[in-house]
Amino acid sequence: PVDRTPEIQEARLKLPVLAEEQVIMEAVKENPCVVICGETGSGKTTQVPQFLYEAGYASGSGIIGITEPRRVAAVSMSHRVAKEMNLSTRVVSYQIRYEGNVTSDTKIKFMTDGVLLKEIQKDFLLQKYSVIIIDEAHERSVYTDILIGLLSRIVPLRNKKGLPMKLLVMSATLRVEDFTDNTKLFPTPPPVIKVDARQFPVTIHFNKRTPMEDYTGEVFHKICKIHRMLPPGGILVFLTGQAEVHSLCRRLRKAFPFRKGNITTGEDEEADTSEAMRKFKKAKQKKPVSLPRIDLDNYSALPVDEGDEDREAGIGDEEDDGSDVDIGDDPADGGKPHQMNHSPPPILIVIKTSAIINCPLCFVSVEVKADPSIPLFVLPLYSLLAPEQQAKVFRPPPAGTRLCVVATNVAETSLTIPGIKYVVDCGRVKKRFYDRVTGVSSFKVTWTSQASANQRAGRAGRTEPGHCYRLYSSAVFGDFSLFSEAEITRRPVEDLVLQMKDLNIDKVVNFPFPTSPSAEALVAAEQLLVSLGALKEPPHTGRLKEMKRAKLSCPITSLGRAMASFPVAPRYAKMLALGKQQDCLPYVIAVVAAMTVRELFEDLDRPAGSEDESSKLTQRRARLTQMKRLWAGQGASLLLGDLMVMLGAVGACEFAGCTPKFCEENGLRYKAMVEIRRLRGQLTNAVNTVSPEVGVFVDPKMAPPTEHQVVCLRQIVLAGLGDHLARRVQAEDILDPKWRNGYKTPLMDEPVFIHPTSALFKTLPEFVVYQEIMETTKMYMKGVSAVQAE
Ligand code: ADP
Ligand code: MG
Repeated sequence: PVDRTPEIQEARLKLPVLAEEQVIMEAVKENPCVVICGETGSGKTTQVPQFLYEAGYASGSGIIGITEPRRVAAVSMSHRVAKEMNLSTRVVSYQIRYEGNVTSDTKIKFMTDGVLLKEIQKDFLLQKYSVIIIDEAHERSVYTDILIGLLSRIVPLRNKKGLPMKLLVMSATLRVEDFTDNTKLFPTPPPVIKVDARQFPVTIHFNKRTPMEDYTGEVFHKICKIHRMLPPGGILVFLTGQAEVHSLCRRLRKAFPFRKGNITTGEDEEADTSEAMRKFKKAKQKKPVSLPRIDLDNYSALPVDEGDEDREAGIGDEEDDGSDVDIGDDPADGGKPHQMNHSPPPILIVIKTSAIINCPLCFVSVEVKADPSIPLFVLPLYSLLAPEQQAKVFRPPPAGTRLCVVATNVAETSLTIPGIKYVVDCGRVKKRFYDRVTGVSSFKVTWTSQASANQRAGRAGRTEPGHCYRLYSSAVFGDFSLFSEAEITRRPVEDLVLQMKDLNIDKVVNFPFPTSPSAEALVAAEQLLVSLGALKEPPHTGRLKEMKRAKLSCPITSLGRAMASFPVAPRYAKMLALGKQQDCLPYVIAVVAAMTVRELFEDLDRPAGSEDESSKLTQRRARLTQMKRLWAGQGASLLLGDLMVMLGAVGACEFAGCTPKFCEENGLRYKAMVEIRRLRGQLTNAVNTVSPEVGVFVDPKMAPPTEHQVVCLRQIVLAGLGDHLARRVQAEDILDPKWRNGYKTPLMDEPVFIHPTSALFKTLPEFVVYQEIMETTKMYMKGVSAVQAE
């Protein structure tokens, strides 16, 4: 029996998933695996665990586990469900990489998918759980894919042993064939339960032109127009990254300042007589802007003027009811519906180009002067934002203000923000690209997929009909790929291969992946692991076919098992496994922790907003340069290069107590330093578990390494990064003046470079190893350390 408050109960009853409770529970009872599809916001994540709880799935010895691909979701959903059920967080808990509040009383456990994968390593049968829910399966994150593969084997094993277990896979899209039509994965296809979305139509407004350069400027102007001219309703903006989010927030707050004292903070908006509210109401009454009427029955996924058949053919493949679909009433067109033959997208969308429907927003220019009379309540939202900050988006904005959430992809499916009526979509996404041959990584902002753009648009229609402003043309949209690719096909897989080998899956090629990585990627992974000593190449007679097979079924070594127990990539795990020598372990742990966390140093090269800020930035840059020189050490330490700088920074920061003040003053990213601290603790525990005799501990007052230890550290680094070796381009090989100071790597024709901010930029040693190559303005090596030529 769950004792919910009347308010919660009322809110729950509005969620579409509640209507399906019986169907879902029946299917779960009858089948070992069930797939549930329902639009974002339909209540899957918050309600399905409650159904299972109430049906008694957590009353025996097993508990209910739910995995999320994002930490944000694991934390905030566990809080939400605890609140809805009126239960303590001792009972509804979460576990993410470094923290959690799980207790012996925990019955519902939210966790990141990586956490569950680690648990499978400890107990393959996951006997703690009676049900596992894999949430957000449509995101196709690598761990989600692997977990589904593993669970497809674990569930039947459990049932055979008389310890029944259920698997639920939940997706925000209907595109689940990779799970259901894959007989290698599920010999009997699991039933798919569709939850009908309570989705209001969303009118899509395409831009006539597509800004290629300053799209954030375009986003800013669009928000200004919406805020000044359109009726009340929250705005949700999709941008690509944290920096963009912050700079737009700053600009918007400047344009529509909001001061707490300014505005009455009562709950009752109707009673509010503030200037802002008056303006809003006026806008409502006068309807200066009449947005097109939306016809629920008439909708299409393509703009009227671009309805070429090829293009639509693929769009509606999410839901096929075979019916003909009309295009919406078109005021500029005499209101005659056009017949179009294609199946509807998952959300109802009326799509028009702004020009056709005379969208007033497109013809009005707004002045960009600070206007405190119509305050905008601007909130950022991205994965790394502190949970308290993230929680703000769920609360109603102060009365008399309009909510505007500036978000990255997290708001696309994992979090549902109440009260959003307008979506502004820049159409782009930031992704890490990885070159399979050269290993070069780069972050690139690219167009998103049609499926993602439609998800984004759908966020506007949760509570009433909404509008989505796409800042790109419909032609550009037509060129988007239909879906985003599964992550597993886009990144190196050596870490996964090692984890699987540790689970005694020797023939990784035969693993039931929902989408398999390429054979090349698997071979490359096994080769790297063999070279690190984690796998052993089995003997073969030298015949090509046999060799190929051998390359894909190397068994794990004892070193490999030790490496697999460390929660870091195999190259770094190798360093940890070797670190026992010469009392180097604390240093190796600190360096590995620092290398694993992205960007220790603050980005001080960012454009400054004002002259004042600019001079502060210059000062801070100078300070960081000076500190880096100090951290790089002297004599032998210098050769350890960037890794010595990281080690020095971590040492100094811990010595000072790892305070935000110290980080701020010395150009370190506080968040990164905290993460490094946690990771150091975690790696120290892991090392002690593997070799208890070393008894290593985290020393906050770690002294710098001795010369001898530095030599040893460099050897350990070389052992881990051995395949990332580069040699200075020789004088006779300089084919282009630009190649001077370049380095040659085995796999690339073009040289790579040491970054000006690197500790070794001036030294230019003959041989170096590097952490990775990042392509920005040039091919740059990151995390460079010198290697002695023998
Ligand atoms: P789904 O998983 O299907 O996307 P959810 O279960 O996450 O749906 O969300 C269901 C509803 O619960 C949404 O309408 C959302 O607004 C609401 N909700 C979720 N988390 C919170 C929260 N922390 N505070 C208030 N409402 C929330
Ligand atoms: Mg969800």
